[in-house]
This record gives sequence, structure tokens and C-alpha cells, in this order.
Amino acid sequence: MTDDIIRLSAAQLAEKLAARDVSSVEATRAHLDRIGAVDGDVHAFLHVSDRAVDVAADIDRRRAAREELGPLAGVPLAIKDVLVTTDMPSTSGSKILEGYVSPFDATVVARSRAAGLVPLGKTNMDEFAMGSSTEHSAYGPTRNPWDLDRVPGGSGGGSAAAVAAFEAPLALGSDTGGSIRQPAHVTGTVGVKPTYGGVSRYGSIALASSLDQVGPVTRTVLDAGLLHDVIGGHDPNDATSIPDAWPSFAEAAREGARGDVLKGLRIGVVKELPDSGFQTGVAASFREALARMEAQGAQIVETSAPHFEYAVAAYYLILPAEASSNLAKFDSVRFGMRVDVPGGTVEDVMSVTRDAGFGPEVKRRIILGTYALSAGYYDAYYGSAQKVRTLIQRDFAEAFASVDVIATPSAPTTAFRIGEKIDDPLSMYLNDLTTIPANLAGVPGISVPSGLAAEDGLPVGIQFLAPAREDARLYRVGAALEALLVDEWGGLLIDRAPELHASDAKGAAR
Ligand code: GLN
Repeated sequence: MTDDIIRLSAAQLAEKLAARDVSSVEATRAHLDRIGAVDGDVHAFLHVSDRAVDVAADIDRRRAAREELGPLAGVPLAIKDVLVTTDMPSTSGSKILEGYVSPFDATVVARSRAAGLVPLGKTNMDEFAMGSSTEHSAYGPTRNPWDLDRVPGGSGGGSAAAVAAFEAPLALGSDTGGSIRQPAHVTGTVGVKPTYGGVSRYGSIALASSLDQVGPVTRTVLDAGLLHDVIGGHDPNDATSIPDAWPSFAEAAREGARGDVLKGLRIGVVKELPDSGFQTGVAASFREALARMEAQGAQIVETSAPHFEYAVAAYYLILPAEASSNLAKFDSVRFGMRVDVPGGTVEDVMSVTRDAGFGPEVKRRIILGTYALSAGYYDAYYGSAQKVRTLIQRDFAEAFASVDVIATPSAPTTAFRIGEKIDDPLSMYLNDLTTIPANLAGVPGISVPSGLAAEDGLPVGIQFLAPAREDARLYRVGAALEALLVDEWGGLLIDRAPELHASDAKGAAR
């Protein structure tokens, strides 16, 4: 029974809950049991809620009382630790925030609770969302359920692994340069970075405010749409929040799955992103997905985005600059950790605390960002990077004048081995080659599983990008491709992941 429940998509589980075939307490217990059985190995969670069953019981009571409940009421949810919560600690993967409990809930968390979702716990991440592997977490790495010796991507590797390991049907993530989409790619799951301003960032511990966006992490495109409908929309507490009404993304996904949205769809392929930069199996899976879509009437159009190749360089000036400013608030006075220095000044305490509280990647980026913003270099570095950002926005505008979506592989390689890139920051940064342009331009992106790489049998994702505010288009196209592939495979890609066995390794280092 437990195994049946955890393998349902959120949409399927929601149906069973509504029909009262399954109670939310049963569903919640099934996922907590699964966490108990496999998370010692996977380490997707930093904290598991002790209130989940009570919250679920309350939903069951309300359902029994015939209260009107939202479509996802009673479905469990994992929450990336970058999002603050009143009933669980929020560390953003950092020692400096160890044990920190927020006095308020992030808007996306408050909306999830109001919709009757059941928070299961907080998921692991690279410290302050800096990284592509979850190895920069101060609390140890998360492991990829497809191969426990490999990374689950990052920074949101915990959320992706939780969903891929059937520890949660749904999760929340944040994407500043790819942290939802790249983990989706390497774990065979679905991840969406909404249009900048489409989902509130209030209560999301800021990494780089002009790039950060919160979004859904799921196993199906429809589930992502359902969760996006819950968390999205205007929030007066976020000054960058778009005030307009949005269409239903779940509806868009349903339309995509049944209709013929691929007929006549113009899919742009960026000619400046050469196949040679991608692992063979990643490039092959990408081409095959395009060919399948073409067979359904889509048109593959070569499109130009000449400035994409500068995106990573520009991003690694803009992000550290904004991060160095955002992280200045961790000053040993207002939040989290403080290391006492007997007889020391305030500056001494601050400096010793920050030295002890931040990990090496965070320090690297603070130094880089402060340097890029310093008076003598501001124009040369930060100023130039902002100009490149404008050129990338123009590339998108020109491309979208003649195509409906742009498609790229979601990342250049499949999941790499734990330890493989940790000492080589540049090669880690380059893993975000195809995801970063969307953050610089504020446009939405989705990663959908496209197959397994022949050489290593690991999952590969295809990314679709659409113009700002056209998130619904991504759900239509993503669901259309997913439906084709599910037909062909006889199920989801994630159903082919190797079985994880209950372990008693409980957090033990492997
Ligand atoms: N991997 C990218 C980085 O290290 C993206 C991080 C993110 O999206 N939060 O900055």
C-alpha cells in the first residue's frame, strides 16, 4: 500500500484523496516511512517535520466535514531550506543559520499551507544556493537516487532527490541560475523556473535578487502546473511581483497532454550552442526529442543568440555582486550564529563569526562580488556584465520574434560523481551554461525528462524557454512531449530508476 501511494503523481494522489480512497494521514505516513527508509542514504532532507501527521489529520477532518478544499489538499510537500518557515528551522544550507527559526512563513509556504498541502520537511541545498551539486551544503551532500555515488545537481539537489526518490510527490525549489532545472535534468524529474516576478520571493533567503525565482519541482508536468497555480500570482510583499492575473498552468498542462499543440509549433534551436560542448548522450537525447516533436508537426528552426556564450561570465559577476550585498546581513548581530571573542570589538566578533559560519564557496563569491563592486573596478566588471545582460535580453527578444519556444539540453552533462568537480569551481560553473541565460533575461524555463544517456544510463532533460509571462506555453509544450514519451516508454522516466533499498545507514558517510 505504502509503495502504491508514494508512486502516485500528485494529481493522482489528489484524486484519491478527494474520492476518500486514501486519507491524507495515510499518504503523509507513507512518505514519512519512505523518508525513514531511504533518506539515510539519499540525504535529501535537513529537517523532517514533526507536525506533518497532525496537519494531515486536520485536512482529513475538514474533508470529512465537507469543507471546500483546494485541488492539492492533503498532498505532502517538501520545501527547499532557502524558504523560511515558522515551524521548522531555515538554514539555507549554511552553518551561519544553524537552528534559525523565522518569525514568518515565506509567501509560497503560506500559500501552500492555505491550499492544504502538508509540509514534510526542509530539503538540503548548496550553501545559500551557490552550487550545482549540493556538495556545498554545510550539512553534507545529497545523493542522486539513480546512483548514490553521483550528485543530484544543485543548488536544489535536496528537493529534486526527494521527489526522484519518492520521498515527496512535490517540492519547492529556487532557481537563480538553474537550481531547479539542472537538478531536474540529472534526476529525471520536472522543474520549472517561472517568469521573474511570477512567483513571490518574499521569505526566500536572497542569493541574487535580480535573478532569484521560486518554482515547482515534481515528477510530471501536470503536477508542476498544479503547484505553480498554488504558489504563483501577485504578492504585495514582493516589490518585483507582477500584478497581472495568470492563467491556470494545470489547465495548460492538461491541454498540452491531450491536444495537438505541437502542430505548427516553431521550436528554436540556438546555433551558437554547438553539440560539441555536450556529452554525447545528452546531445543525442536532445536531437531525438526534437525529432519526435517534429514528427508531430513541430518545426525546428535554427535561431541565433550570439551573446549566450558570455552568459556564464556575466552571471558570475552579477551574482557575486548581489550576493555579497545580500549576505552582509549575516553580521553576528541580527541572525543566527555568533562566535564570541573575549575582549574583542564588534568587528572582531563579526569577522570571526563570518569566517566560521560561511563555507569556502560563499567566501569565494563574497570576495569576487565585493571586488567587482569596488570603486575602481565597478565599470569594468559589474558595468560590463550588466551590458552583456542587456544583449542577452535582446537575443531572446529577436529569437522570439520568429519562434514560439527555444529548446536546449537542460545541462551539458549527466550527473557527475560526488567529488569530481568540487575542487574545480570553473567546471562546476560551466554546468549552468544553458540555464543561466533565462535568469539574466527574466524569461521562464522548464526542464522535462527526455531519456537516458546511452553511455552511462543516466537521465537527461530538455529545456524549453518562452517569452516572459508565457509560462503557460511551457506547460503546454512540456506536457505534449511528456505525453509522447510516456506513450513510448509505457511510463515516466523516473519509473525506470533503480530501486532504492531501505538502509540502516542513517546519515552515515558512505
Ligand atoms: N549553480 C548556479 C550557481 O552556482 C545556480 C544557483 C542557483 O540557481 N541558485 O550560482
